[in-house]
Amino acid sequence: MNTNKKIAACASSEQLTKQEIKDIEKSLLKMRAEVQDRIKTKKESEMPEAEVGDDADLASQSLDKEVLFELNDNAQALLEQIESALRRIAKGIYGTCEYCRCNIPKKRIQALPFARYCVNCQSSNENK
Ligand SMILES: [Zn+2]
Repeated sequence: MNTNKKIAACASSEQLTKQEIKDIEKSLLKMRAEVQDRIKTKKESEMPEAEVGDDADLASQSLDKEVLFELNDNAQALLEQIESALRRIAKGIYGTCEYCRCNIPKKRIQALPFARYCVNCQSSNENK
C-alpha cells in the first residue's frame, strides 16, 4: 500500500516571499475597495429617493445603472474571492493549494491572485 503519494509538480514550485505576498495583499485590498465601491454605487443608484440632477445627469446615470447591473453579479463573486484570498493571507496559507498543499507556482498566483488550487488539482477538479 502506498500512502505517500507524491505529486511531481510540488517539488518544483517556488514559495512566494513575504514581500511578494505583501504586494499581492496590497493589490487585493485596493481591488476590494474598488469592488465594494462599485457595489455600493449600484445600491445607491437603485434607491427610489436618489437625488436627481439635470437631464444630462439622468442620461449618464441610467447608462451607469445598466453597466453596474451587469457588473453586480460578477462584483459580488469577485468580492468573495478577494475576501477569501485575504483570509488565506491572514492565516499564512496563501499561495498553497487547498487540495494537495503544494505551493502554487508564482506565475499562476501572480496572474490569478485568487487561485486556490494548483494547476494539477484545478484541472482534475474540472474534469470531474
Ligand atoms: Zn494541488
